[in-house]
Amino acid sequence: MRLLLLAPPGAGKGTQGDRLAARLGVRHIAAGDLLRAEARAGTPGGDQIAGFQERGDLVPDQLVIDLLLPVVIEAAAHGGYILDGFPRTLPQATAAAELGVRFDVTLDAVVYLYAPDAVLTRRLLARAGQEGRADDTEGVIRHRLEVFAETTEPLVAYYRKRGILVAVDADQPPDSVTEQIQARLSELTLPSNGLRRSRLCARIRRWAWMIPRLPS
Ligand code: ADP
Repeated sequence: MRLLLLAPPGAGKGTQGDRLAARLGVRHIAAGDLLRAEARAGTPGGDQIAGFQERGDLVPDQLVIDLLLPVVIEAAAHGGYILDGFPRTLPQATAAAELGVRFDVTLDAVVYLYAPDAVLTRRLLARAGQEGRADDTEGVIRHRLEVFAETTEPLVAYYRKRGILVAVDADQPPDSVTEQIQARLSELTLPSNGLRRSRLCARIRRWAWMIPRLPS
């Protein structure tokens, strides 16, 4: 399973990403976490990244792609991935689509988690006390929500047009959100579902001759 979680800050990408990855046995790749780790490592790229993250601005596409691509390829080779927070811009989505074809790691489905801004802000401010993230202050949260609306939200239409998007209301308890994501994904005709179905059909055909015929 190769899945993208597309959601504004505070919608629960991280929580749902962990749960889905555990259920599906694939790696959860959180773009923001990888970027924060790079920033902590203090590499020249990392120092740049820290500045963008603290202001709530998006990190330049090429930096993000260079960091994520090897991780995604590695995960895809081991059963799949739940990608949270990438692609986040249209240029990232088109680059990801091209790279996906080139390295055979294309997305199966996109889960869009939505919730009202007031709910998202409340959650992020509550999290600020526990996690102490530099970008969880009121002003930066407002800016991140604006960046999402302007730059990331157009990806909803982009993936909906491709027929691989499911939208789930994230303003519910985490367990209900997980259940709904799984239910909606099973309704989608995923290549992996199709594969499973066609394998089953082939197996039935292979053994069909053994089924005794009814007397006519
Ligand atoms: P949230 O969704 O709550 O903002 P994330 O951890 O996903 O949290 O992202 C935090 C920050 O990391 C973003 O504000 C941005 O600076 C950076 N970031 C994460 N993913 C991307 C991406 N795909 N492209 C550019 N910047 C990103």
